[in-house]
Amino acid sequence: MKALAVFVVLLLLAPFALPAFYLTLLNYIGLYGLVALGLLLLTGVGGLTSFGQAAFVGIGAYTTAALSTGVIEVPAALSWTQHSPWIALLAGLLLTLVVAIVLGSMTLRLSGHYLPLGTIAWGISLYYFFGTFEQLGGQTGMSGIPAIEVFGHPLLTAREMYYLIWAFVLIAALTTQNLLDSRQGRAIRALRGGVVMAEAMGVDTARSRMVIFVIASLQASASGWLYAHLQRFVNPSPFGLQYGIDYLFMAVVGGAGQVWGALLGATVITVSKQWLQDLLPQLLGRTGNFEMIVFGCLLILLLQRSRNGLWGLVARATARWFPKPAKARAVPQAQALPRRAMPPRGEVVLEARNVTRRFGGLVANNDLSLKVHAGEILALIGPNGAGKSTMFNQLSGVDTPTSGQVLLRGQSVEGRGSRAIAHLGLSRSFQHVRLLPAMSVLENVAIGAHLRGRSSVFSAAWRLDRAEESRLLAEAAHQVVRVGLQDHMFAEAGSLALGQQRTLEIARALASDPCVLLLDEPAAGLRLREKQALGELLAKLRAEGMAILLVEHDMDFVMGLVDRVVVMDFGQKIVEGLPHEVQQNPAVLEAYLGGVAS
Ligand code: ADP
Ligand code: MG
Repeated sequence: MKALAVFVVLLLLAPFALPAFYLTLLNYIGLYGLVALGLLLLTGVGGLTSFGQAAFVGIGAYTTAALSTGVIEVPAALSWTQHSPWIALLAGLLLTLVVAIVLGSMTLRLSGHYLPLGTIAWGISLYYFFGTFEQLGGQTGMSGIPAIEVFGHPLLTAREMYYLIWAFVLIAALTTQNLLDSRQGRAIRALRGGVVMAEAMGVDTARSRMVIFVIASLQASASGWLYAHLQRFVNPSPFGLQYGIDYLFMAVVGGAGQVWGALLGATVITVSKQWLQDLLPQLLGRTGNFEMIVFGCLLILLLQRSRNGLWGLVARATARWFPKPAKARAVPQAQALPRRAMPPRGEVVLEARNVTRRFGGLVANNDLSLKVHAGEILALIGPNGAGKSTMFNQLSGVDTPTSGQVLLRGQSVEGRGSRAIAHLGLSRSFQHVRLLPAMSVLENVAIGAHLRGRSSVFSAAWRLDRAEESRLLAEAAHQVVRVGLQDHMFAEAGSLALGQQRTLEIARALASDPCVLLLDEPAAGLRLREKQALGELLAKLRAEGMAILLVEHDMDFVMGLVDRVVVMDFGQKIVEGLPHEVQQNPAVLEAYLGGVAS
């Protein structure tokens, strides 16, 4: 907070201290920084790479150029939209919104390399679009763009534009920061490497992607609007692919994932390009685009040295002088969230009917049926490769059965996807833990509570969600304490021992207020004391009416705890019964010991 205040004061004073040349440079840093901030959210945090953001800058710039100069004929009913930059800003944002939603729904689903390629494709198309239209001035561009008026005062000079530009940048930086620190922000941060988990916790990940794409595009568009009124002239060249690449570099070089890193990146790239451009021809005694070559080499060097970009380097170098202040680490307290009514004890909560799942020729689940009742712990056991985890995936909607039915509280849910199933009250942990290692234990658990919140992206950006947010965090904290991880509440999840990470997953599942819980090998990696505590917790949940399905290898743990056992081998159910019956069943002994005995 103090750092922010100093930053704002410096920004306010800069125009009085700096010569005009530097002020112009600062204006450009602000314009680029606004785009880089969007890319920070999209690429740095969300992991979606876009080379096409410059095209959205172009949409903002060209919309205002066309409307505020009045060169575009609009229907008489819309004539009031002309000649006002502020109305042109709204029109540009609206147009950007529409284009972003159309392009986003076509490209954001693409995976791997296809997404960046898709963004290059529309980046290039839009660039040529700007240059093709006679009315938009073709390659020559359009001039005579009026100045923006604020309270009747036209912003004619670089100094006057400076304050407007940096007001936009500051608002974008603060709202981005707020958004990341919220329920919606956790969903966004889960996009990178946690999509399966997030969907299983009820997060609409496709929507989260669209949200960050739209935000990034709107910020780029606003930057284009400011640019057009700063230059009072537009042509297509600053909206091409080359600029799209530069913007991406700014976000990555500065420090992917850090708001202030994006601004640092915009600063460093803008300034160093300028200097290299002036300096190198003097040094070399020749003209040419040497700066691009040197620049490229410096970039490679930086990315080699620090994966977290410049912000990472700066943070490391200054850590000695600015030790991280101990954050307020109070356990959040708030009114408890409403809870779901548990189904009556004995009700069949979850049922698999003749579920078969084939992977090519392999039948991982073969005609398998089972029922889990409210207030019961059912164990699913069997040798490695028997198909237990596959069954979990069919039941939780992570995967869809080749044939057969899954019923959750009487509703047929197969093929409905894990998000819908999570909303119906099923929650799970994963055999191979799926958490977000750089986030705190508390925040990881709070992802489980996502589906119990309503707050929108807008309210998160403006901190109108704080009441709900503290209730969600209090719920998460409650579950962290409940599973015994209270000493690690604020530690990075990735720093926990594997057994504790599994326990974290149970807390996360509980935070969603489920009525049926699927736990895949929860006791693996736990010490004896921890196992006992886990057993007690599960028994307590059962007493509350929870239906629990458990995959576990530790027979001592299973046999002392569960009500019934289903044994699988080669994808099939071979035995079902009470723990002590199953233990002595010849078919079970054969399945477990067969390979060893023969
Ligand atoms: P378990 O959890 O009982 O150890 P799994 O359900 O993980 O067993 O695996 C059952 C069988 O299905 C194994 O032979 C495994 O290799 C296969 N299998 C699991 N998932 C897939 C998949 N996505 N594609 C192909 N084969 C799979
Ligand atoms: Mg398994």
